[in-house]
Amino acid sequence: MTDRADATPPLSLLGDLPADALRRELHRMADWVADYRERIEDRAIVPTVRPGDVTAGLQQHVPEHAEPLANVLRDLDDVVMPGIVHWGHPAFLGYFGSTSNGPALLGEIAAAALNVSAMTWKTSPAATELETVVLQWVRELVGLPDTFTGVVYDTASVAVLHALAAARELALPDVRARGLAGRRDARVLRAYASDQAHSSLEKAMVMLGLGEQNVVRVESDAAFRLRPDALRAAIAADRASGHHPFAVVATVGTTSTASVDPVRDIADVCAEEGLWLHVDAAYGGAMGVLPERRALLDGVERADSVVVNAHKWLFVPLDFSVLYVRRPELLREVFALTPEYLRGDAAMNGAAIDYMDYGVQLGRRFRALKAWMVFRAFGRSGIEARVREHCRLAGVFADCVRAEPAFELAAPPSMSVVCFRCAPASMSAADVDALNVAIVEAVNASGEAYLTHTVLAGRAAMRVGFGNVLTTERHVAEVWERIRAEWRRRSNADQGAR
Ligand code: PLP
Repeated sequence: MTDRADATPPLSLLGDLPADALRRELHRMADWVADYRERIEDRAIVPTVRPGDVTAGLQQHVPEHAEPLANVLRDLDDVVMPGIVHWGHPAFLGYFGSTSNGPALLGEIAAAALNVSAMTWKTSPAATELETVVLQWVRELVGLPDTFTGVVYDTASVAVLHALAAARELALPDVRARGLAGRRDARVLRAYASDQAHSSLEKAMVMLGLGEQNVVRVESDAAFRLRPDALRAAIAADRASGHHPFAVVATVGTTSTASVDPVRDIADVCAEEGLWLHVDAAYGGAMGVLPERRALLDGVERADSVVVNAHKWLFVPLDFSVLYVRRPELLREVFALTPEYLRGDAAMNGAAIDYMDYGVQLGRRFRALKAWMVFRAFGRSGIEARVREHCRLAGVFADCVRAEPAFELAAPPSMSVVCFRCAPASMSAADVDALNVAIVEAVNASGEAYLTHTVLAGRAAMRVGFGNVLTTERHVAEVWERIRAEWRRRSNADQGAR
């Protein structure tokens, strides 16, 4: 983007970039973006910067005078890009991969141009109604019944916060109005989840004033699924101690291994005990797209709330998280609050939805636009094919692990996640742990692949997750070869040292 003959002059003191200059810069930016996507594989996935390097390359104070855009864009290339981790690289297999794609990029550009706030229907009828339609689409895609009503938040962490705020209000009436402090009728509220569930539950309990310590982590079984018997026992022990159990989080697709809790059995426990059931299907909800795998979501229809992150595996880039609730009026009871200046805008006498009533946020991005573009551009069959392909690639990777005697699977492969370790027979457990952490670090430092590590039953393991539309079987083979090369390099060095 540098050295341009037709450089745009700095902006004047008032007003915006003139239309012809904006058009020219947008065309350049379009090339920049398309080049980035096209040649992303030429880049090292992780940068070599150290903490502070990017800051050192930036001006420390806001510039006093308008700068030529060419200078800013040059710094994007020279200062910012060297500090980027290229999540969109097809060999980036950390977490659940990355959901970037062309149609979504177009949606983001249009949403940025419109810059509407979907707080009430009146402040943006189209953003509100498109959100409602996209929420129905996601519900249909993942096979949830129409007894669920959705709302879009940024993340699953924020979704569970809202779900548990509704659950708290049910368990302890009037907490919205009266708060928690000094109440004689308030016992300690307790929430339950497996030892594999995501830490966003603790954060929600902190935010709700219920306390991190009041999350009870229940032991999971050998396949990392919550044990309903252990859940029952934990609830009974808490009741005996005078605590007030109020909510359970069951996970469909845990963060480490993509294990699936027995949601139907957990729903039985919740029904018997009168507890709110929140299902964290942030990642695993996408399995509902595949008819042959929909059984993994068995029982989810009985939940009080379900979160599905379209930004994890439904090809909508960050951020786009959907919370489905069976009783949306409970969210309204906790969050509806109309400031005076919006009174005229609100509600349309019940003829329309004001999404500001369903959460903390007032100003809300037009997130639905990018989702709508992706779902239309891919179609249901295209989404299904891509999710199925990611599961297939995970299967190919798992077969590579099975075929190599020095390696083992560390958990049953699930969805698009494979946890595995290098475990040569002659090595002690401590050395195996250190070896696996070292292999992950070395592979990532190579810039050619990216994995994450996890700890399962106290033992280190490596982990890959597939979710990028650019990833193919070639990348699986290359990443696997790199992992094996690291192992071979280390075992040769070991033998040389003996
Ligand atoms: N739930 C699960 C199972 C996750 O794996 C994650 C993040 O990886 C979250 C919730 C939190 O997601 P978010 O980043 O959208 O808050």
